[in-house]
Amino acid sequence: MNPALVCVLGPSGRMGRALLDASAGRTDVRISAAVDREDAPALGNRVNEGSGAGVEVSADLRAGFLISEVYIDFTTVSSTVAAARLATELAKPAVIGTTGLSAEDEIALEGLAKVAPIVVASNFSLGVNLLVGLVTKAAAVLGPTWDAEVVETHHRAKRDAPSGTALTLAKAIAAGHGSSYAEMHRHGRDGDVGPRPQGEIGVHAVRGGDVIGEHTVSLYGAGERIELSHRATSRSIFAAGALRAAAWVKDQPPGRYDMLDVLGLR
Ligand code: NAD
Repeated sequence: MNPALVCVLGPSGRMGRALLDASAGRTDVRISAAVDREDAPALGNRVNEGSGAGVEVSADLRAGFLISEVYIDFTTVSSTVAAARLATELAKPAVIGTTGLSAEDEIALEGLAKVAPIVVASNFSLGVNLLVGLVTKAAAVLGPTWDAEVVETHHRAKRDAPSGTALTLAKAIAAGHGSSYAEMHRHGRDGDVGPRPQGEIGVHAVRGGDVIGEHTVSLYGAGERIELSHRATSRSIFAAGALRAAAWVKDQPPGRYDMLDVLGLR
């Protein structure tokens, strides 16, 4: 099988570098283009030279898309929305990991999913996707009388809070409870908040140092507590998942998919 030709957006970012590193030695994907913002210091640099000819970092997104079968986007919200609009014009398959998109930003992704297959995930690691399933099950078995709280920790440079993964976990708890995330979530607590309402889903963001990503769901019963945790110790887990998604998605019909689809867990 021919490797999927992949355009990586933001190759100088933390995830961009991890994607280039993780692509080395893989036979299911080949980096065909690397596109960064207009003023990125990396423009003109050659990247990925360890695995083949290497590619030059450019700011020409259209040219990058035209020589690629799929693009991977772990950048910023505004860049992701702009890329999705151009991809819609070109019907380009996508793997999107950028977090912090608003409901309005999501409209650009929905437009793309109408004309091309896209994988969108707040977390591309196998372990977190398994955790989401375990949390849904635990919340369903225990019910809303067990108080559910999500705590996430990330490095100090992270822009959005709570993390996209924490929101996914909170939504998994709501699904397990059969309740509504929109009505039941509580992001942080401050001031005279009163007693905790039954079924509330607490979400808390901690920021510091170089933590790659840690998520713990605690379920508090009367006299006992369950904690389900995931700790990422390397960005390579997200990069490997995103590359696997890129190889998978290019052969799918238009639509929006997530990592459970890629992993065959649905
Ligand atoms: P980063 O700040 O290190 O990198 C962002 C990159 O985007 C930079 O290289 C920047 O130059 C580039 N960029 C900005 N505007 C651009 C444009 N118009 N065109 C092309 N490139 C552009 O950030 P990071 O830590 O790599 O994280 C990026 C995003 O990925 C964040 O939203 C983060 O939350 C998310 N993330 C998701 C997962 C997941 O599994 N879904 C895992 C880790 C990080």
